[in-house]
Amino acid sequence: MDNLITAEDVVSVITEAKCKTGCFCPYCRCEMIIKYGKYNGIQRYRCKKCKKTFSAMSFTPMNKTHYIKKWPLFIECMILGYSLRKSAKILGVTWVTLFYWRHKILNNLKHKNVKSFKKIVEIHDIYFAYSEKGSREIAKRKPRKRGYIHKSFGKDDSSVCVINVKDSEGGTLSKVTCLGIVNKRKIEKVIGKYIDKGNILCTREWREYKNFARIRGMKYYPISNKDMNSLYNIKRIKKYTNKLKVWISRFCGVASKYLDNYLAWYKLLDYIKFICNKKNITNMIIDSCSYVENDTFESLRRSKFVI
Ligand SMILES: [Zn+2]
Repeated sequence: MDNLITAEDVVSVITEAKCKTGCFCPYCRCEMIIKYGKYNGIQRYRCKKCKKTFSAMSFTPMNKTHYIKKWPLFIECMILGYSLRKSAKILGVTWVTLFYWRHKILNNLKHKNVKSFKKIVEIHDIYFAYSEKGSREIAKRKPRKRGYIHKSFGKDDSSVCVINVKDSEGGTLSKVTCLGIVNKRKIEKVIGKYIDKGNILCTREWREYKNFARIRGMKYYPISNKDMNSLYNIKRIKKYTNKLKVWISRFCGVASKYLDNYLAWYKLLDYIKFICNKKNITNMIIDSCSYVENDTFESLRRSKFVI
């Protein structure tokens, strides 16, 4: 596997992306900073006001990693959708370390969302079995089936509802919404801030969508199978969710607490059309470093499923 971009490229694109909003101390936001030697080949800076030192990598998933040279290749593996074991072989790093890297990156990617939906908004809810995969403290119960639940519309709390949305211009959202079947309150919570009266809502036939559209004063089209070829349909979002279900099955069940991370991963792959090139790797690195990162291995492992 070829390295499409180098560690030096990574440092320079992140420095450039960060300096776009001004070069300042990440601790106190003071702009009086001076160069303060190099560590691991990366330029460090010192704040004249609070005296703290930092680099462009501080507060990014790559902070304090000994393997910065391997990150671009790992991002390539993620775009190609490789398993942790396959990536571990390519990179010569343990898969446990890579699991941690994966979620540090995805925890940041999931913050990137559409600003608002345009024109026709197609929505489709799908359900996954609730899973505590990997947990050492599974509650007293029999192990459950993992993965996507076919044709079971989450009648009880053992299934996790995921709402998926695509608008006329390709704007996409895919998010864990609730346990059990979706209702208008949950729909409002997840997509409410991205839509307005000008949008036209298309969903499967389900009264809660109808109620939601009525309350928000939006045009609404419930779509049955026979309507799939009409002007208003849910073809694109169903194509998206069908491919998502196939893609996610490679992980043999995902712990529900990490499901949002995998949804953000798939959303990004869909956006870049699964193309692994220099531009897409660079953009994924910038996106994964655009939010404050404080996760540790323990905080990720001990995190809980919250909705
Ligand atoms: Zn400072």
